[in-house]
Amino acid sequence: MKVSNHGTSSLKSEKDSNGSQMAEYAKLSNPDKGLMVQNTADKIFKTGYVCDHCLGRQFGQLLSGYTHEERGRAIRTVLAMSAEIGEFPFNENFRDIKFRLLKAPSKPEGENKPCWVCEGLFEKIGEIAKRAAEELKGIEFNTFHVGVTLSKKLLLNEEKLWESAGIDYCESIKTEIGREVGKQLSRELGKIVDLKNPDIVLLLNLERNAIELTLNPIYIAGRYKKFAKIPQTTWYCPRCHGTGCDNCNWTGRLAKTSVQEIIAEPLLKATKGTGTRFHGAGREDADVLCLASRDFIIEILEPRKRKIDLKKIKLKASDAKKVEVNGLKFVSKEDIVKVKEMKAHKVYKMIVTLGKPVTTKDLEGLKTLKATISQRTPQRVAHRRADIVRRRKIFSIKYKLVNSKTLELEVETEAGLYVKELVSGDEGRTKPSVSDILKVPASVKELNVIGIKS
Ligand SMILES: [Zn+2]
Ligand SMILES: [Zn+2]
Repeated sequence: MKVSNHGTSSLKSEKDSNGSQMAEYAKLSNPDKGLMVQNTADKIFKTGYVCDHCLGRQFGQLLSGYTHEERGRAIRTVLAMSAEIGEFPFNENFRDIKFRLLKAPSKPEGENKPCWVCEGLFEKIGEIAKRAAEELKGIEFNTFHVGVTLSKKLLLNEEKLWESAGIDYCESIKTEIGREVGKQLSRELGKIVDLKNPDIVLLLNLERNAIELTLNPIYIAGRYKKFAKIPQTTWYCPRCHGTGCDNCNWTGRLAKTSVQEIIAEPLLKATKGTGTRFHGAGREDADVLCLASRDFIIEILEPRKRKIDLKKIKLKASDAKKVEVNGLKFVSKEDIVKVKEMKAHKVYKMIVTLGKPVTTKDLEGLKTLKATISQRTPQRVAHRRADIVRRRKIFSIKYKLVNSKTLELEVETEAGLYVKELVSGDEGRTKPSVSDILKVPASVKELNVIGIKS
């Protein structure tokens, strides 16, 4: 008896389990069950000449660590041995096998025909990879993924094969082509295949015989301050959505610039990207300055350069008067949600204009604003926001009379409070409000964000 390496203690149980395993094998080798691999291969061979890839792929889910080409090669070799001793019919699929005993016809039928399933595609993998490498010239990336759109003909061929031979352990031709081109390209360019988060997706369109590239975005986080009355994001013309019309004087937009465009400018130049998407941790209105740092992530679309030095990114001198940017760093797509969900308290400083004169004594009542404000969606944003009642807290309030009809006000609020309506009351939609408490019409003349506390 062979002594187990694992020591004697486990000897008995191992022997038992070996015994029962052997019994299992004995059941499996019951010849009445037929020989699946052999029978399936026979069915495949009867359809015409099939290459190792297309043969092996039909058994793709059996064993691991083999390519389909290796699986196909192994099956063909074993069956050729059977053919040599007359236990398996000779056919054109053995055309490249050197027989020793069997006298194979010297010129088997269909000698030079390519595999009818893939139409010889797998012989061209190297060629395709070269073409792809050509397309990728000048584009900087580390990771990629190859996708495939099959031609109608290949789809049909695969269906025909499956009809003849079944689909029990097969893989699709689409998956194998993508993987093989990916492996070849990876070897050639020294880049990494990444199915989940690739820098680049190559789509092999076999119907159109084209390679289509998708350059995935890069994500850069930072913080900005805004010293000019400009919108946070590109303000496209609502009529033409950016293409240009007489409403927007053929510029496509209603504001000449924005925080987004100012920050995008040097980044697009460095990355050779085609556009941006901007995600702010909240936003201030176009006429509101942001003197505290606000977090953002800018998405650079279709970048041809990825390894840029963020320390060298500088805003144009004229733009630097309007916007200041700090702390640029690369982040991932997942970080967008985090920025969007930041619930920072904001400190606003504002000048309020009153409809009627008030005295310092009248202002006493404003102390009661340090409470929870009930705010129905303001009329001015109702067209793009759900009509709901929000409850937001005011943490502190400071006020000073500049003259009998002008007030300086500083409030610290919970994220998401509409400050202009806190002053005006928005026709009773925001309660309480400055206007409500002072019993005079009130409106914001000037408003700045002076603190963002996360
Ligand atoms: Zn093939
Ligand atoms: Zn327009």
